Amino acid sequence: MRKTEILILGAGLSGTLLASQLEAECYSGEIVLLDARTDFTREQRWCSWAKPLPVLNPVVKKSWQKWSVLDWHFSTTQSSPEMPYRQIYAPDFYNYFHSRWKEQNQVSLFLGEEVYRITESLNAVEVLTNKGVWRAKIVFDARSSFPSYLKTRSALYQTFFGFLTEFKQPIFDAETITLMDFRLKGAPDSTSGVNFIYILPYSANEALIESTSFSPKPCSFVAHQRLLREYIEENFGADFVVKREEKGMLPMMVARQEFECGSRVFRIGTNGGAIRPSSGYGFHRIQRQVSQIASSLIKHERLPQGFFSLKYDFLDSIFLELIALDPIAAKKSFLKMFSLDQPDALIRFLMDESSLADDAKVISVLPKTPFLKALWRHLSRRLLKSNDSQETDLALLDSMDEPSRRLAA
Ligand SMILES: Cc1cc2nc3c(=O)[nH]c(=O)nc-3n(C[C@H](O)[C@H](O)[C@H](O)COP(=O)(O)OP(=O)(O)OC[C@H]3O[C@@H](n4cnc5c(N)ncnc54)[C@H](O)[C@@H]3O)c2cc1C
Repeated sequence: MRKTEILILGAGLSGTLLASQLEAECYSGEIVLLDARTDFTREQRWCSWAKPLPVLNPVVKKSWQKWSVLDWHFSTTQSSPEMPYRQIYAPDFYNYFHSRWKEQNQVSLFLGEEVYRITESLNAVEVLTNKGVWRAKIVFDARSSFPSYLKTRSALYQTFFGFLTEFKQPIFDAETITLMDFRLKGAPDSTSGVNFIYILPYSANEALIESTSFSPKPCSFVAHQRLLREYIEENFGADFVVKREEKGMLPMMVARQEFECGSRVFRIGTNGGAIRPSSGYGFHRIQRQVSQIASSLIKHERLPQGFFSLKYDFLDSIFLELIALDPIAAKKSFLKMFSLDQPDALIRFLMDESSLADDAKVISVLPKTPFLKALWRHLSRRLLKSNDSQETDLALLDSMDEPSRRLAA
């Protein structure tokens, strides 16, 4: 049996960041990271307006101060020099930390090691993998998969599919990202929802162009791909090559994930509820979560519990209702929000750092009637749920497989 002090299951964004944050804060114990994957070159980037943790400075290589949002009738460009939109390219991130850990002994990385089972006893935790058993004092479960009960209950899904494109002609303004371009002829498929194009320009000739949907059922990647090609050819011409592809799917719903799932086992990252339901952004929350955990471990304090504010859960619930109820009003709301004359207030709102004054500014530009309807629907649901909760939860539990049932319980 192999032993360590801290065992992190899943060496993705949150697992890797927690290990590197502990290392940066001079944690004295041994840290082991396990991941089922062996290949860390998959196309992915994490973007955020949040100030990155210092450990990330060597891998933040791209940032933009300006963004635009537009539809057929309206377009605006805003800028936030104080809080640029920063990108970390996942293959660079993994390459940097993996190389670093080869040079020192504190963090050990075991790849191709799939976790099957976690068992907690009084003094330790045992983790069964395809390569044997690990025994650790504390385990952080950073495996990304969403529990299946989240998928069962999810109100909406965010799906996206993107091409990293290169054009012969200069096409893009390399200083300005397009957060949402609603000028689409149709939707990826027949499901109604909010559909838009997201563009990260790297130069005048190169950009990641992504088709994104917030919809009641997940849109297929094939449908996204078709729509994306149509959009690109119509707006930028057909003279381009696709260098790489990026895709993803995230459930969009407010569901509290318990951080603590034993006295020595804790969930972090996506698995710990770090994805903001209304946007799919999780990078800022993951940074905050790992930094608080690392600082408590260094000080030998009890680990913090509530990482994410209930305020955003409440506001996001209403926004998700609005997207499901009235996608056109939701689209208008996005346009209004991103045209706010104080962009920094909006950014703080998106990054979970807003004051009440910031919240008021954001809320003041939103269309009132559709939001009141969404609020009413949300409150009615809550009321119905509290009356029927036992019945609903039992029905839900019946429909689940065993691991999900345990998680839900
Ligand atoms: C394509 C994509 C782009 C995104 N872009 C952004 C963005 O720009 N900004 C933003 O804020 N958020 C973004 N997100 C959301 C979120 O920030 C990311 O999903 C982020 O990677 C979540 O980190 P994580 O550690 O929870 O999961 P991951 O980074 O997915 O890491 C989980 C790890 O667990 C491993 N694993 C899973 N099961 C097992 C097992 N049984 N045994 C061992 N290992 C296992 C996986 O191999 C993986 O390496 C994006 C999500 C996706 C999918």
